[in-house]
Amino acid sequence: MCGIIGISAEANVAGDIYDALLMLQHRGQDSAGMVVCDAEGKLNSRKSIGYVRDVFVQRHMDKLVGNYGVGHVRYPTAGGAGKEFAQPMYVNSPYGISLAHNGNLTNSESLANELFHAEMRHLNTDSDSEVLLNIFAHELGKQREIYPEARHIFKAIKKTHRRCDGAYAVIGLITGFGLVAFRDPNGIRPLIIGIRKGKTRDEYMIASENAAFTSLGFETLRDIEPGEAIFIDNNGTLFTQQCAETYQQRPCIFEYVYFSRPDSTLDQISVYKSRMRMGKKLANKITKIRPDHDIDVVIPIPDSSTTAALQLADELKIPYREGFVKNRYIGRTFIMPHQEERKKSVRRKLNILDLEFKNKNVLLVDDSIVRGTTSRKIIEMAKEAGAKKVYFASAAPAVKYQNLYGIDMPATKELIASNKTDEEVCQEIGADWLIYQDLEDLIVSVQEGNPSIKEFECSVFTGEYITHLNEGYLENLENTRDDDSKIVRIEASQNTS
Ligand code: AMP
Repeated sequence: MCGIIGISAEANVAGDIYDALLMLQHRGQDSAGMVVCDAEGKLNSRKSIGYVRDVFVQRHMDKLVGNYGVGHVRYPTAGGAGKEFAQPMYVNSPYGISLAHNGNLTNSESLANELFHAEMRHLNTDSDSEVLLNIFAHELGKQREIYPEARHIFKAIKKTHRRCDGAYAVIGLITGFGLVAFRDPNGIRPLIIGIRKGKTRDEYMIASENAAFTSLGFETLRDIEPGEAIFIDNNGTLFTQQCAETYQQRPCIFEYVYFSRPDSTLDQISVYKSRMRMGKKLANKITKIRPDHDIDVVIPIPDSSTTAALQLADELKIPYREGFVKNRYIGRTFIMPHQEERKKSVRRKLNILDLEFKNKNVLLVDDSIVRGTTSRKIIEMAKEAGAKKVYFASAAPAVKYQNLYGIDMPATKELIASNKTDEEVCQEIGADWLIYQDLEDLIVSVQEGNPSIKEFECSVFTGEYITHLNEGYLENLENTRDDDSKIVRIEASQNTS
């Protein structure tokens, strides 16, 4: 998963990009980067492994001079975790293009072959973002325009859409000419544009989530439509065009379940309100199947489940209590490909408040269950703290399939629910009762915010993928996403970074 930012303003933008990246830090903590372009058309950039606050220090910020630029935070879903994968990525020709990408291409291998064998382009990594950058650069270069205008850029994006399969929300900087942004024809990953009044012109900010706008004085203008492209030239003039031949709105539903900040509104749907509705639906399901339940207290697993848990408790008219205190400063101190390390990390991250559990029937609420490591450990902790019974509710349905569109999910075989019934999962995590949200209810919870969206990208729950997949793609991905292959990749990147 990644977070992307682009700003075009009257004065230097590096400070604003930095602040915006901090607002999107939850979308990626492996690396951060920024490229800005100054009045002479010189690029100034900095990117490295680590958190935003560690990658940029004052001496870097002093050199990041320029009134338009692009920023990125990364959590790897495709490719390795080394320094060379940090974004924005850059190609020299044509013009010098820097690109920040959120999502995942599902045909990057065949595109990489075409780039290398037919288009004489060198790729330095196995990152799909580098492939996407080179496809766009190649299509733009083919037009042989010394001074590209919006129509040339849009034509290149049209061709990029034709060639690329998968999910991509993109912000790019074309050196000396302006900022470009586009979203894949299904609008799987979010991308939104905001506006701020400058002294002489409107200033624009494009971001993965609009939570990044408010504190910087930007107002939400609108979501970028699936397939649509935006170009903001050097003078701050905004151009836009639909560049996909066919398009439909199918945003990723997991953004609302887990990824996005509650203070973001994506595709006109408030993440916070959608999580409240998830809590309400879950409460309805509980009262329907167990009208005489004996739950004494509702306890969220912080942080992403708190909104749903609060609403759930409200609906059930049962006390909501904080039973866990999260250590906010633990961070990602090391990468954890091993299951044993993951188990220990749950205890390090969450401390339990025994008094909320002793002699009570507790309902623990989480946004989702993926491997089951968190839920198993937490149920064990709740029982040790003296809970009589531990029930577990998930605001999302059972996660059964791998994600192909930019969310870091384990291989299918490592998902606890992939080949188990709800009862078997319940037994394995050690709960006395397990309640999953129904998919229909999840969809309604999100859709209520914008009924014009008819379908969502729900493949982690259904296994139905909405883009074309080459033969063997799923099997291949399964083998590169299991713990063993992650360990090999991490070791390789540690040797190179
Ligand atoms: P697990 O222990 O694997 O079942 O993880 C479940 C927890 O991870 C839940 O508390 C979620 O908040 C969180 N989660 C869900 N999806 C992801 C993801 N793709 N990456 C990291 N954490 C996630």
